Amino acid sequence: MSTILYTIATDKDGNLIKANGAEKGNDYFCVVCKAELILRKSGKTGKGTKRPHFAHHALTPNCTPETALHYSFKNLLANKIQQHITINQPLPISWHCTFCGIEHSGNLLKKIKAVKVEHNLTVCQPDIALFDNEENVFAVVEIVVTHKPEENALKYYKENNIILIQINLTSDKDIDNLENKAIYPDYVGTCYSPKCTVCGYFQQKTTMTIIEGACWKCNEPMKVAYISGSKEVVRGSSHLDPRRFTSEEVNFAKSKGVKLKNQYSKTLSENYFANSCAKCGAFVGGHYLFTQYISPAIYNGWPTEDFDIGYHCYQCERKAYENEEIVDDDFAY
Ligand SMILES: [Zn+2]
Ligand SMILES: [Zn+2]
Ligand SMILES: [Zn+2]
Ligand SMILES: [Zn+2]
Repeated sequence: MSTILYTIATDKDGNLIKANGAEKGNDYFCVVCKAELILRKSGKTGKGTKRPHFAHHALTPNCTPETALHYSFKNLLANKIQQHITINQPLPISWHCTFCGIEHSGNLLKKIKAVKVEHNLTVCQPDIALFDNEENVFAVVEIVVTHKPEENALKYYKENNIILIQINLTSDKDIDNLENKAIYPDYVGTCYSPKCTVCGYFQQKTTMTIIEGACWKCNEPMKVAYISGSKEVVRGSSHLDPRRFTSEEVNFAKSKGVKLKNQYSKTLSENYFANSCAKCGAFVGGHYLFTQYISPAIYNGWPTEDFDIGYHCYQCERKAYENEEIVDDDFAY
């Protein structure tokens, strides 16, 4: 059952009026089908009493509360954006980035000079289009009640570097919550991280953690470095140990006082770096990083420090890893 009611209508002058603020005796019209509406407002509150809303005298084909909600939210939000543009006031937004995995925030109107609803882009008609200084569409806001943007629209936005901002609505109550819905969009199709010069995708932050622990063998103080984030997930492990560090990462760890010693693996017949003890020379094998250091660091409260040491490209790493796997498979035969 739909929980969406007609809670907004237009008055005889075409202004959008919320049922909450509407008065009996005035004329109200449907925002979708333009039919005259009845205001349902009992004054009573409590269980079973519906919140103030409008109702049609008779059902109109193709007019649904979802369409009315979509129309109303779109226009109210566009009006709000217009007000901010007029008085040159920023409009903060914050979102979880699907490219780099962290939270971003910024001013939606930083590069925006104009706003328009249902702007015709030939292949599509975004709910709200935001224009930059050069009158190009810089970003679009799509309000989703039942219909997600069409594939060809998404393709067009991508090809033309138009940032898609999506706001999902589930109830007419979202209209009263417009401010919050605008600040926290459900999706924003951009990222603040630099793009990879090889594949062109946004990169992810590389975070190196250094634990000030103790040597598992002689118990002397010992620093241990590892990298967490998306990079190691590619490698099928949740923590990346120095074996997989780049030379820059090795140098960074060393500059922070981590002893990385070159070890030789007979099984892999290759040299690699490992977190080592300056005193006795014992080192931490990749498999013991978690059990001997990461987990004890939490239990023993060993000091740990995180460092943002740059960016890496998940796309390229995954590609490289997949290519490697093919080689591994060849050996298996
Ligand atoms: Zn209607
Ligand atoms: Zn991002
Ligand atoms: Zn890349
Ligand atoms: Zn030691």
